[in-house]
Amino acid sequence: MEKRRKTKVVQIGSVAIGGDNPIAIQSMTNTDTRNIESTVSQIIGLEISGCDIVRVAVPDQEAANAIAGIKKGIHIPLVADIHFDYQLALTAMENGVDKLRINPGNIGSANGVREIVAMATERKIPIRIGVNAGSLEKEILAKNNGVATPAGMVASAQKHIQLLEEAGFDNIVVSMKASDVRFTIASYESFAKEYDYPLHLGITEAGILRSSAVKSAMGIGYLLLNGLGDTLRVSITGDPLEEIEVARDILSAIGRYEGKRKKVEVISCPTCGRTEIDLIGIATEINERLRGVDKNIKVAVMGCIVNGPGEGRAADIGIAGGKNKAVLFKKGEIIRSLKEDEIISVLMEEINKM
Ligand code: SF4
Repeated sequence: MEKRRKTKVVQIGSVAIGGDNPIAIQSMTNTDTRNIESTVSQIIGLEISGCDIVRVAVPDQEAANAIAGIKKGIHIPLVADIHFDYQLALTAMENGVDKLRINPGNIGSANGVREIVAMATERKIPIRIGVNAGSLEKEILAKNNGVATPAGMVASAQKHIQLLEEAGFDNIVVSMKASDVRFTIASYESFAKEYDYPLHLGITEAGILRSSAVKSAMGIGYLLLNGLGDTLRVSITGDPLEEIEVARDILSAIGRYEGKRKKVEVISCPTCGRTEIDLIGIATEINERLRGVDKNIKVAVMGCIVNGPGEGRAADIGIAGGKNKAVLFKKGEIIRSLKEDEIISVLMEEINKM
């Protein structure tokens, strides 16, 4: 296993990140934050899926006021995402938010930064500095002919960090997001050489599900495999629940998933000329039904009896197709034969008994 970078530990409500703590999974709501009911309902769904920390956009005072109501309805730490207006950050903290995502250099008033730092210190609320390649400061871009670079990303982070450190505040998390995978990796790597603040990983504007899953797995996965990263968010243009699924898949794929919610891993073969059942339909349905199952098991869905039980031996349970039928196997040993129309129901029954 890769050696994990040593960082400061930052406490976000009930969740600690950095140090040796598990990699926390985050998401962000896409409801109107002012609508407390719909925001709470979406967050509860995210909690059930395995989200550890959730962020809401706070674009105005009404949204900042809604934080109090949202906090009452949820069970995971809440982060307020604020741009420019320090008054919104103060209201969010007064209303019980567990972390702020705000770039102090964008507040535009030294007094505003001081007030935020004073309240965040008193209430032990960390601040995430979120550097984004798409919104680097003009003076930083000007140094490189208007082009964003990983060095520019680090310079931006440095500027924001300095403002907080000068005010005596170091309860900081940093993200260095871009939509380009190599750029993002280079930015995080350069930053990590100079600072030991915990890192929030993410590829931003990563697109719809497939594109984001690939880019996030490459970027976030690479960084984690090289020991960097303490919390992550997969950004998807779509349902935030998918962000949690992909995040759990990325962590599981590299043996780093330690979430409270257990995860069923489904392995299935690609199908070939030997397949004589609707394996694609069966595998899709099984994956769908197993989404909500809270068990640490491996399930195999294989196309043929010749190779299926053997190749699926690492699985705790599985099926392998024949002609309009299948066999059920456990750890590679065949247990019984199944008719095609009972494959899904019997497999689910057996899994539920496990
Ligand atoms: S398990 Fe059987 S059906 Fe599936 S790809 Fe391998 S040989 Fe083909």
